[in-house]
Amino acid sequence: MIHGTGSALQIPSWQDELKRSFKRPSELLDYLHIDPRWLESPPVHDSEFAMRVPRGFAKLMEPGNPQDPLLRQVLPVAAERVAVPGFVADPVGDLDRSPLPGLLHKYHGRALLIITGACAINCRYCFRQHFSYGGQPAGRRLLPSALRYLAHHPEITEVILSGGDPLMLFDTQLQGIVERLSTIPHLRRLRIHTRVPVVLPQRITSGLTRCLTLSRLQPILVLHLNHAREASEALGQALLPLRNRGVTLLNQSVLLKGVNDNAQTLCDLSESLHTLGVLPYYLHVLDRVVGAHHFETPEYRALDLHREMARRLPGYLVPKLVRELPGEQSKTGLGMTDGP
Ligand SMILES: *Cc1c(COP(=O)(O)O)cnc(C)c1O
Ligand code: SF4
Repeated sequence: MIHGTGSALQIPSWQDELKRSFKRPSELLDYLHIDPRWLESPPVHDSEFAMRVPRGFAKLMEPGNPQDPLLRQVLPVAAERVAVPGFVADPVGDLDRSPLPGLLHKYHGRALLIITGACAINCRYCFRQHFSYGGQPAGRRLLPSALRYLAHHPEITEVILSGGDPLMLFDTQLQGIVERLSTIPHLRRLRIHTRVPVVLPQRITSGLTRCLTLSRLQPILVLHLNHAREASEALGQALLPLRNRGVTLLNQSVLLKGVNDNAQTLCDLSESLHTLGVLPYYLHVLDRVVGAHHFETPEYRALDLHREMARRLPGYLVPKLVRELPGEQSKTGLGMTDGP
């Protein structure tokens, strides 16, 4: 059963930590000793896509630095409100490609289940920031029809849990979903796309580790780090039990102006990921979502940066540079990833 709350259970510590998140720009800036006047674009306090920053993530920021690359990812600023042509509410066309609420089946062999609309951190560049999840996630009510869909499509061998962020669910809720997925015989792999461990390493509980590693399905965790400073010691520790039990650990990043748009930063990120036992998978160019134009890096620059990474790093530390185009059969590789 997917219950809405964990009321019968002890509230896990990561939930407490989540409640203590910074929710007001002024609070976060005070904590970092940053005068709002130092910022290039002033903070806004009434953003519809609210600020949400767990304290553990704020601790990784550099006090006194208004250009901190971690701060830039999460602080709501006035630049978001500038309308720029070409930036739309649903840039990847996801809302058109949903056979039923909470399920996306765009690519061969893989289906994506949206099991919650919630995230532990609200990233300002997120392409999902304008989705209304009212009735969208395949929660208690919609999960049975999503499972029926999967059962009737034997060509699907991998289910991707997504959101929002799937690790916002309690272990018991995830366990329920994983158990039901594992009864569908043609499914082989279970993938989870999540940023939660990066901002809340304590979310990787022993219960979660059991849930992922005791199932028949081969587990893959795809993290989301954009900067080497997010590869914290605490994250490394938290990932160890998953590494030791053979969970495939990958990372996807978004190329973001003022955050990671230089070769040294991207190479440092790849090296730091490897230290954590994580391989870089995708480097996405920005989806052109309303409110995120100030993060865009021109495509020629993205290609240059990617070539420079290839020159400096072993091949396995160079992520695929990709763009998501509506209606395509897969992510679209740019530059070297175009294939022969
Ligand atoms: C990105 C994505 C996937 C996964 O694609 P991979 O190339 O296998 O990582 C699956 N479904 C949807 C809807 C996606 O956007
Ligand atoms: S879906 Fe991912 S990128 Fe978007 S706000 Fe949530 S954690 Fe950030």
